[in-house]
Amino acid sequence: RPFNFSAGPATLPVEVLEQAASEMLDWRGSGMSVMEMSHRGKEYMEIHQTALDDLRALLEIPASHRILFTQGGAIAENALIPLNLLGARQSADYVITGSWSEKSFKEAKKYCTPHVAVSTADEGFRRVPPVEQWRLSDDPAYVHVCTNETVNGVEMFETPSLGDVPLVADVSSHFLSRPMDVAKYGVMYGGAQKNAGIAGLTFVVVREDLLGRTLGICPSAFDWNLVALNNSMYNTPPTYAIYIAGLVFQWLKRQGGLPAIEARNREKAGLLYGAIDASDFYVNDVDPAARSLMNVPFRLHDETLNEAFLKGAKERGLLQLKGHKSVGGMRASIYNAMPLEGVQAVAAYLRDFERQAG
Ligand code: PLP
Repeated sequence: RPFNFSAGPATLPVEVLEQAASEMLDWRGSGMSVMEMSHRGKEYMEIHQTALDDLRALLEIPASHRILFTQGGAIAENALIPLNLLGARQSADYVITGSWSEKSFKEAKKYCTPHVAVSTADEGFRRVPPVEQWRLSDDPAYVHVCTNETVNGVEMFETPSLGDVPLVADVSSHFLSRPMDVAKYGVMYGGAQKNAGIAGLTFVVVREDLLGRTLGICPSAFDWNLVALNNSMYNTPPTYAIYIAGLVFQWLKRQGGLPAIEARNREKAGLLYGAIDASDFYVNDVDPAARSLMNVPFRLHDETLNEAFLKGAKERGLLQLKGHKSVGGMRASIYNAMPLEGVQAVAAYLRDFERQAG
C-alpha cells in the first residue's frame, strides 16, 4: 500500500484493516457483521466493554475519570463543553495556540463569555506559551487548551497545574501517541479518526466530579452525566467505529503500549524534522520545543514548486501531503499507524526532490 499522510481520517494499521475485513461478514461465529448487531445484544456489549477497558488500561485512566463514547466529533464538543461544564458560572478561559483552539473559543461565545487567557495568533501560532504567561480570569468554569494543533503543528508537552480550575483539552490529533497524565485533566476529548480508528466516534474522558454541571438546554444525547450513567448507551452509540477503535487499542497493546509507541513516534518525528532542517529548501518555523510529533507542516522555500512536489510524491506512493488550506504548504501527519518506513520514504523524497529541482 502507498503511505498516506492524511491528517484525518488517517491511515490505519494494516493489521486492523485485515482483521476487520476477515470479520466483516461474520463476527467470530455470531453470524452477524458488527454493523448489524443490536447495541443491547451480548456480542456488541462485549465489544463495547472490552474497548472501554482496553482504553482505560492503555492510557492508565484513573478510577476518578469516566470514559464516554459519543458522536458529533470534536467540533460538536466545542459547544458541548460549555453546555456541560458551565454550571452556574458565566465564563471560561481559552488558551489559543492554533486554529483549532481558536475555533473552540469562537464556538464557546455562543454559550458564555469566554476569556482569552493567552493567544499566539499575532505570532503566527509557532509556540506554546508557558503557563506563567496565561492570564486566567477570576472564576472560570474551566481552562480550555488544544494540546496538539493539527494544522499548525504545535504540541503542548507540559501539562500545567491549575489548582482547582479544571483543564479541558482537545487531544484529537495526538490521543494515544504517548502516555499522558490523565489525572491532571478535567476533560480530554477528540474524534477517533486520527489515532483511534475511524470517523464517527468521539471520546470524552471526564473527571467524575465534573458531571452534573450540565445546563438544562443541553441535548440529552450529549449530556455527559446521562451518557456516563448509561455506560455510553443512552442512545445508539457508533457501534462500528467503537469496534474499530477496540481493534486499534488491541493493536497498540501488541506494540508494547504507549511508552513503546512514544519511542517510535519520537524516532519518526526526529527523522522528518531532521530532513526538513537539513537545508533551506524546506521550512518549518515552529519553536523546536513545541514541534508536534504527529503533524509536521512544512513549506517549500520556493512555493512555485508546490504542484511538482505533490505530483512527484504521489508517483512515489506518498499520499495526501498537501497542507491545510488555511496555511498552505505541505503537511505530513505521522500518526501511530504510519510505519517508520513511510517516514524514511518521505525523508528520502525530500532529499531527492531538492536535488532534482533545487
Ligand atoms: N480539533 C482538532 C485538534 C482537530 O485536529 C480536528 C480535526 O481535524 C478537530 C478538532 C475537528 O474534529 P471533528 O472533525 O472530529 O469535529
